[in-house]
Amino acid sequence: MVLLVVILLLLLCLLVRTYLYTKNGRKLDPELSAKDEYVPDQEMLDEVNDHFRGALRIPSISHNDPSETDWSQFQKLHDYLKETYPSVFQTMELELVGGYSMFLRWKGTDSQRRPIAFLSHLDVVPVEPLSEWTYPPFSATVADGYIWGRGTLDMRCQLITVLESCERLIKAGFTPEEDIYLLFGCNEEVGDLPPGIGADRLSEMLKERNIKLDCVIDEGGAITDGSALGVGTRVCAVGVSEKGFASFDICATDEGGHSSRPPAHTALGRVCSAAVKIENNWMKPRLTKPVEKMLDMAAPYMDNFALRLLMANKWLFRPLLPLIFSKVEVLKPFVQTTTALTMASASEQDNVLPQEAHIVMNSRVLPGETIDDVKRHLEELSSEDNVTIKLFKGNDPSGISPSDTVSFAKIDELVQKYYPGTLVVPYIQLGASDSTNYYKVCDNVYRIMPFYFPYWVTNMGHRADERVPVEALERGVKLFMDFIREYKGEG
Ligand SMILES: [Zn+2]
Repeated sequence: MVLLVVILLLLLCLLVRTYLYTKNGRKLDPELSAKDEYVPDQEMLDEVNDHFRGALRIPSISHNDPSETDWSQFQKLHDYLKETYPSVFQTMELELVGGYSMFLRWKGTDSQRRPIAFLSHLDVVPVEPLSEWTYPPFSATVADGYIWGRGTLDMRCQLITVLESCERLIKAGFTPEEDIYLLFGCNEEVGDLPPGIGADRLSEMLKERNIKLDCVIDEGGAITDGSALGVGTRVCAVGVSEKGFASFDICATDEGGHSSRPPAHTALGRVCSAAVKIENNWMKPRLTKPVEKMLDMAAPYMDNFALRLLMANKWLFRPLLPLIFSKVEVLKPFVQTTTALTMASASEQDNVLPQEAHIVMNSRVLPGETIDDVKRHLEELSSEDNVTIKLFKGNDPSGISPSDTVSFAKIDELVQKYYPGTLVVPYIQLGASDSTNYYKVCDNVYRIMPFYFPYWVTNMGHRADERVPVEALERGVKLFMDFIREYKGEG
């Protein structure tokens, strides 16, 4: 009887806390977010889109093998940008890095203030297979309310928006107080290869000049409907950190020979045995600070009652949260280092025993863990399979930027101004971007795109039929212009 009363009281306590948590945690009016009354400046919209579409017609594709890259397209893009944004290129000092990356400095009036930087990359990914495209990928076709083409999302939209904002401010006679850097790499899509010509070098140049940035803005979360998080309000997830990337070769060797006299386990059998264990035993889920904050802020708006109940009662459920979240498909990559088996090779012929067998495992490493941790984990799991594990590509997770800074607050304020009722939350970006290079010169690295995109649009990067809404960029330009004009950093 006593036990029953205790259980009922506990249940009541959980429910009351969930009710209060939901009520008090909602600082925004979701209705405000639902009715978007923004009216674009049509003349500005047409002009921005014209400039955008011109850039989309230039196929500056980077390839993993740099000898396949047609660098003349990058030259064309440079020429186009210079012609389209004359004030930017007259006012800012330009240094070319590795021939095709751009290091631009807009000198401010107060050299004591810490500069800020806008990043972008000039390259796009290949378009094959062409047959999957509704419109030619470099035609910049306008149809059904969208601008279609390779790079629309990743990331000509941001490149053009940054340049457009600066051009308009310069033309209006504005000079910033702090220096502003525009840093455009040429090989982001192939992971800074070859080294020394992209963001790795651009960030190093700042370091060599003892420049500490107040804030870095790069590609990342746009303003979207809240469907990904299951919330009924618009969401802007600002990337404050980035998962690491690691590809491992799992290899077994053997004598080979005729398949009529096989050993109990061939080289292929052994790598498969290791692979099965690796796939079934991911690294332990963990709750990192940015993800906890993201959930804290988003949970009150979530439709899912169970998630709200859990977050409202962290005092009780905290030890279980990482494990529970790792079972929720959309949250899983945010709380766990992932394991994906992606490639395999062994014997070339059906009746020949392999002398070597390989399986490739690609992992996205959660901040707080390192590539070495992952390697140790794999070695432990496969210790009985007589395989070797070698890292052949990778970089550790980035640092974590705080979300209680003046610059983060400014982003939030301007997102509210242009997209009222939007929930602005920090998050960990799952894919890699140039910004990971900049932690050595900046604490406040934020990945945000100032556009409204339906959630599915944000998944169109690197795919056929990549496209963005026709009206997206104009509002983003206004937001970035305000950001530059009103910026007051920490130092
Ligand atoms: Zn990109």
